[in-house]
Amino acid sequence: MTHPVPKPWILGLTGGIGSGKSAAAQCFIDLGIHAVDADHAARWVVEPGRPALASIVEHFGPGVLQASGELDRAALRQLIFSNPEQRRWLEALLHPLVREEIAASLSRATSPYAILVSPLLIESGQYRTTQRVLVIDVPSELQIARTMQRDNTSQAQVEAILQAQAQREERLRHADDVLVNDRDPAWLKSEVERLHHFYLTLTGGH
Ligand code: ADP
Repeated sequence: MTHPVPKPWILGLTGGIGSGKSAAAQCFIDLGIHAVDADHAARWVVEPGRPALASIVEHFGPGVLQASGELDRAALRQLIFSNPEQRRWLEALLHPLVREEIAASLSRATSPYAILVSPLLIESGQYRTTQRVLVIDVPSELQIARTMQRDNTSQAQVEAILQAQAQREERLRHADDVLVNDRDPAWLKSEVERLHHFYLTLTGGH
């Protein structure tokens, strides 16, 4: 007789921009854990040829397209950043599509648990689709310094991004586990390994 393979439980992984979510997720992936990044899913749903992109162009005009026909994410970000109404419009369009992409990816996982990486895990409500929440936390100054180095972006924009995201305190309120990523990459890796071995002992994330 065959036994049904238990469905992996879902770990939500979040943290502010530049906190090290992607770096932490990569450590889990290296340990054989399936991970899907909500930001990547959000990019897949607006690839050329997919219906969401046509809706966005119709709404915002052709200025949101690059010459290649791909979405100009920077141009779109400029349009919605200081305009909550437009941002809500975009979110209403994309959120259900992104949810479907994420669910499809997670349903393909064969690891003991699987990870949903999302900067907006808490405020989007995505955390409710997970069984456990891991917050990657760093002091704000370190977060800004790393993000500026990575993206070569202006400090003002980084600070606006930080404010538009959940307050650090709110994230931490939802955390089951907190990884303080204020040391070097080797420390990050060892902390992920420690959590991984703990997670392997859990059933359904508890
Ligand atoms: P996020 O996905 O949360 O926006 P990233 O994982 O991209 O953040 O990390 C932001 C930047 O900081 C990247 O360039 C990454 O390589 C770097 N970084 C992350 N963790 C560490 C660390 N422990 N030590 C040094 N650099 C780090």
